Amino acid sequence: MHPNGPLGNFDLVKKINMEHTISTILNYRPLSRAKIATLTGLNKMTVSSCVDLFLQKGLVFELGTTGTSRGRPPVLVDIHEQAGVCVGVDVEINQFTVLVTDLLGKRLESMGIPMESKDPYHFVDSVSHIFADLAAAHAHRPLGIIGAGIVIPAYYNTQTNGVEYNANLKEWNDFPLADELCRKNPSLPIYINPAPYAGAMGEVHFGGVASKTVEHLVYVTSSWGLSVGVYNKGELFTGATGTAGRLGHSTIHMNGKKCTCGSRGCWEMYASVKALYDLLETTPQQLPFIDIVAGMTNGDAKYTSAVHELGHYHGIGLANVINAYNPRVICIGGLLALLGPTLVNSIWNTLSEMIPARFLRHVEIYCSELGELGVAHGGVSMVLRQLPATMIRYALQE
Ligand SMILES: [Zn+2]
Repeated sequence: MHPNGPLGNFDLVKKINMEHTISTILNYRPLSRAKIATLTGLNKMTVSSCVDLFLQKGLVFELGTTGTSRGRPPVLVDIHEQAGVCVGVDVEINQFTVLVTDLLGKRLESMGIPMESKDPYHFVDSVSHIFADLAAAHAHRPLGIIGAGIVIPAYYNTQTNGVEYNANLKEWNDFPLADELCRKNPSLPIYINPAPYAGAMGEVHFGGVASKTVEHLVYVTSSWGLSVGVYNKGELFTGATGTAGRLGHSTIHMNGKKCTCGSRGCWEMYASVKALYDLLETTPQQLPFIDIVAGMTNGDAKYTSAVHELGHYHGIGLANVINAYNPRVICIGGLLALLGPTLVNSIWNTLSEMIPARFLRHVEIYCSELGELGVAHGGVSMVLRQLPATMIRYALQE
């Protein structure tokens, strides 16, 4: 038979059937073959041959039976979560965090590594060594490392294929990060996203119930500056070149403080972690963020009034965000999430003065519970999106 004839179509149909089968197991696990057939609309024999292939390759396993129905109870099929690992890397100015999870996103280990140099080549070398060590440590798993999601504190221009401007990390501007990482790690699939997008993905994938079920979500994150990731109709809104969401540099004060971007009165000069340190007239070196949280929790007036002021300015920027995007849920991520209800209450006080109640009625604002690994989880979710395709490729290998 001609390779591009009926046989080619047969292969394509088989791949599509496998895709439906494995995606359905991932979404509704564990499932019987009969249930997979019902959910996918495929016939039971097709489902069984797909499941058998994944079984043979050790990517799924049979869970025993549900045991209650009369006759022979159905065997449930589940993902073999140990069949491979995912890696998420959260790059910050002073350090990067590596999170290793199983195929269901459960944390296996995490480590923080200091950035000894601002030279991007140094980072590529350093993280590539870690990837090599992890690949060796997980070589016994059928899929090994299935990919690495790199989260950067800057935008990544999808047209020029380089890191966009970051005033705090100028050495990385225009650096072809994807090319350099792929050159050093030729067999490892690499995905890159800016922190606000990855944070939003991590929240939707691993975060609270509200974010999982919602199609219109705004994720605001600040590790030092401030940026925004927007989910619209369940899709991440990235704009023409992948830099949408630079709202930290929207103007909230016409003749305000000079910003690192060159403009004046940017939102992030008043509502970010950096702004909170300015209000307290100190630095992270002198006062760890966790101490600010402790001071606020203990009711120390110096800290509570600083957080209230921060919340007021956060509210001004969020009023613009609500007017622009009409979100159902606003999630505060990054370090600011640790400020919890004190921050959220101040935000609401300002919002209710700025926006008619009818436009706020359906908005929910909450702080992410993913903590300091939230953005790294976003890196993992970038990898997990490719899991069905990775599993199919492996299952079809001779
Ligand atoms: Zn600015």
